[in-house]
Amino acid sequence: MELNFFGHLVVGFFTFLVLNWLLPLPQDTVVLGFVVTVFFALLPDVDSDISRINNFIEVALLVFAMYCFYEFSLSKAQDFFVFGETGLGVLLATKFLKHRGWMHTVQAGLLLSLPLYFFNHLLFWFAFAGFLSHLVVDGKL
Ligand SMILES: [Zn+2]
Repeated sequence: MELNFFGHLVVGFFTFLVLNWLLPLPQDTVVLGFVVTVFFALLPDVDSDISRINNFIEVALLVFAMYCFYEFSLSKAQDFFVFGETGLGVLLATKFLKHRGWMHTVQAGLLLSLPLYFFNHLLFWFAFAGFLSHLVVDGKL
């Protein structure tokens, strides 16, 4: 089955509802949990040049890199330069992804969700579940 942007959005929304029923988030984290789940439900299609999430991430990475280089020009702090380069590197890397290739695997979901584990254990599960919902719908799981 192939779903478009809105299909994955709706499935991500229901994934959030079910998971928040099983693992209730604290009241002050519910909105963040919702955003994380839906974002990760859309994320695998970053490997498609025509997907909305790809366009969104391209713009976000460009803005992020420009901001970092701007801050570097003001402060000369090397960190900003490295962050800016990393943003451009990730942007470039998305150009080499094959549609429904590595980005549509459980390993990619784990790797991309894992940083959230160190931020908030529960958010990791919401991100990972959102990602898996996409794979299930695309028939990749
Ligand atoms: Zn997909």
